Amino acid sequence: MSTTLTKTSVDTAVLTDSYGRAITDLRVSITDRCNYKCVYCRTGNEGAQFPELPIADYLRMVRVFVGLGIDKVRLTGGEPLLRTGLTDLIRELATLRTPAGDSLDIAITTNGHLLEDYAVKLKTAGLRRVTVSMDAVEPATFARITRVPDSFDRVLRGIRAAKQAGFGPIKVNCVLLRGFNDDQIVPFAHFAREENVIVRFIEFMPLEEDRIWSPETVVPVDELLDKLAQVRPLVRLEPNTASETALRYTFDDGIGEIGIIAPVSRAFCGQCSRIRLTSDGKIRTCLFSQFDHDLHGVMRRGGSDDDLTDYILSTVAKKEARHHIGEAGFLKPSRSMVHIGG
Ligand code: SAM
Repeated sequence: MSTTLTKTSVDTAVLTDSYGRAITDLRVSITDRCNYKCVYCRTGNEGAQFPELPIADYLRMVRVFVGLGIDKVRLTGGEPLLRTGLTDLIRELATLRTPAGDSLDIAITTNGHLLEDYAVKLKTAGLRRVTVSMDAVEPATFARITRVPDSFDRVLRGIRAAKQAGFGPIKVNCVLLRGFNDDQIVPFAHFAREENVIVRFIEFMPLEEDRIWSPETVVPVDELLDKLAQVRPLVRLEPNTASETALRYTFDDGIGEIGIIAPVSRAFCGQCSRIRLTSDGKIRTCLFSQFDHDLHGVMRRGGSDDDLTDYILSTVAKKEARHHIGEAGFLKPSRSMVHIGG
């Protein structure tokens, strides 16, 4: 098994793992601090666990990844809007070009708490897409999940400000959790239709600090589809791309888009195009990997860009074929979602 950098022409390069999957999508956590304490993600404790790096260090590592054919960069965390230097980073990322000469598709995943203040600045800096995590459309349920009072209206204003700033379509991610927000499915369908956002329901994965996951906490896709169909009959939409993770639906009147991301019950590992960089500069080859690969360590030891390239190639060669959730012997990863970057 080996990693290859396939030269398809003089101008293009594609980073390919040992299973033949093109790795084109890099997620970079720029802090593991977060201003929410979502029950499915964090404990009630404050604070970061892993160090943040200087913005220039993330930029250098991303530049090397882009030289290897990464064309999509998603900034995440922790909460990326908490990170000083975020807009500078985006402005610099927007100047990078892939080996084929294309600019990067730069996206962010945020809880939206600070988005109203940032939306225009992010757009001006060169950000292309915004995904907002929002797990209820009912304020009391929202507060119970995030463990932060009085944020719901801010997030709503953030989504609207992002639309006004010219981002679109905005994706709104909702992690469904039995007993917490499974009553929000129908209200979310109306929200998608009224606010003209793409609502994506995500299956709860065993990546939380509090270790509350069990198969019973996951809301099955069939139940979700049944509830959505109470609003209007659903119509399946074609995937946007071959590596699309969401099953896409609209309603029979064409108003509103719903995505279903089911990494547990309908795993999409065979199409995985992702690789992750943690806030302390470690490569994670899979959300459920047991290992960190210390790319920043190569930098700290004075490594050249060629050294970083070699390290990335040898790490991508170790990318796992798939996750093993639900199988005997499955081990939860050593880091939770907030410390990997979602
Ligand atoms: N703070 C930002 C946010 O809230 O979007 C970015 C980081 S957050 C870790 C990224 C995404 O991971 C969010 O959409 C969140 O809902 C999701 N997430 C966190 N823990 C999860 C879990 N155990 N299962 C499924 N999704 C999870």
